[in-house]
Amino acid sequence: MVRFTVDYFGGWHDFACRECGWEGRGSELTPRIGATLFVFECPRCRSAVAGGSHPTHEDAKDAAERGNAEAQQWLRRRSRS
Ligand SMILES: [Zn+2]
Repeated sequence: MVRFTVDYFGGWHDFACRECGWEGRGSELTPRIGATLFVFECPRCRSAVAGGSHPTHEDAKDAAERGNAEAQQWLRRRSRS
């Protein structure tokens, strides 16, 4: 399996599918969230376009400290549960 990395808290734009040439934003991808990994599939051909392991608390903290709103939200959700 190909290893993908994506900046969970940053790069949700301008994805391209290597299989069929689809290009678009991360929000158009189909998410498949597993227990330890997440994968985003191409909406056209269902190839994995992006993915990785779930962010750790440290990843989120780093991003939140850089002022990333997604990461700040993620930490708030986490601390509630
Ligand atoms: Zn595709």
